[in-house]
Amino acid sequence: MHDFDTICVISSAIGEAGIGVIRLSGPQAYPVLQRIFKPRKPVDSFSPRRLYLGHIVNPETTQVVDEAFAVFMRKPFTYTREDMAEVFSHGGISPQRQIISLMIREGARVAEPGEFTKRAFLNGRIDLAQAESVLDIIQSESDEEARSALQHLSGALTQKLGSIKESVKRGLANVEALIDFPEEEIEIDREETAALLEQARHSLDGLVASYTEGRAIKKGLDILIVGRTNVGKSSLLNALLMEEKAIVTPLPGTTRDLIEDVLHVKGIKLRITDTAGLRHPKDIVEREGIERVRKRIPEADVILWVVDHADDYTDEDEEIYRTIRTKKIVVAINKSDLARKLPRDRLAEKNLPLMDVSALTGAGLDELKLALYGAAMGKKRKSPALLITNLRHRDALTKARETVKRAIALYRSAEPAELVAFELRDALSRIGEVTGETCTDDILNDIFSRFCIGK
Ligand code: GDP
Repeated sequence: MHDFDTICVISSAIGEAGIGVIRLSGPQAYPVLQRIFKPRKPVDSFSPRRLYLGHIVNPETTQVVDEAFAVFMRKPFTYTREDMAEVFSHGGISPQRQIISLMIREGARVAEPGEFTKRAFLNGRIDLAQAESVLDIIQSESDEEARSALQHLSGALTQKLGSIKESVKRGLANVEALIDFPEEEIEIDREETAALLEQARHSLDGLVASYTEGRAIKKGLDILIVGRTNVGKSSLLNALLMEEKAIVTPLPGTTRDLIEDVLHVKGIKLRITDTAGLRHPKDIVEREGIERVRKRIPEADVILWVVDHADDYTDEDEEIYRTIRTKKIVVAINKSDLARKLPRDRLAEKNLPLMDVSALTGAGLDELKLALYGAAMGKKRKSPALLITNLRHRDALTKARETVKRAIALYRSAEPAELVAFELRDALSRIGEVTGETCTDDILNDIFSRFCIGK
């Protein structure tokens, strides 16, 4: 257990609000609370985890600062594993500032961002991956993101990594025995060792691969709308967002800027960007717009290609297709409310999902959203799967996988056991970076500095 000082902070969002939460943590949490909080029914001592109604009082002037609830929690059964107290005062800048000032005067100091969670990590209550998931929960904007982060907080990733480490450690123990004793003198099952390492590699492969989906959950998917002018791109975006975000006019080439907004499908964010038509530029403003579209194509997860149901399939349509053909594409055949002129077989031969929609009537929009989701995520999604959502974790686990692979190759070609052991120890340390066992202070500081105040 580390010897820390006592910290305090406003944990709720700052501003006018019904209530505001102030937290204290550290060895002085109890005396500080006792000095400034007077329960309405006086008590000799606060029972842990019991909520008291009373007043925050300036102990020197006996002036009442606010009416509040307060609770004391005894270590180690707290978020930080230290003594903690929470005060639920009125929200609002003045009462909370006064309460914090009193706490500071009684010996606490204002906590740095993430300091409570950092103490929870340093005191061994959670590992680093769990600490990071706390930040992910606070920052999540979609339900899927929150679900995945909560799963990490509950220790699902920690457990999975624990079982991978176990396989590597058992493999390493066998290999180390080979260093100390010649193979003839001991009984080491070479196949068992290889199987353990293969198992670890397989699990690491799965985790690393899950990052594609994990990233989509955390960051959302980027959808770029392309199509020639007047096929209804802006109208379609508007219909999808059900609000007027793009300028819709019957004049060709009016949407000159990139305009984006967010939809949610199955708990995942789809960020949709509308573009100026990919067409031959007539003036400079439009050419700039087109250049920006071309630049955006590589970044997009899915291209939403809009064609006009009531028009011919033109050379320009085909040219657009050639620009985007290497991407994941969903085709929206728009204006399905009008009479058909489009030769569908020109599209059918491309083997892309074809969605009939009408921006005007709203027909087919739900199916279109699902098609965009399906194109990016694949249809068969085992949920709730354990996903890596954090780039730092992906990088560390990718390195762990590569070292395990090298170890397996060395082992199979009967290279010296020392070399195999070296790789395996490196793999363990890479996995340890994720959970924080083998992590530099710089990495720790970087992670916790991204936290909001009060967590
Ligand atoms: P953009 O240049 O591709 O962004 O096309 P716009 O969204 O500006 O639409 C061009 C024209 O087509 C406008 O006059 C829209 O009202 C019309 N339009 C768009 N979608 C539909 C649709 O689904 N049905 C019909 N009938 N007209 C549409």
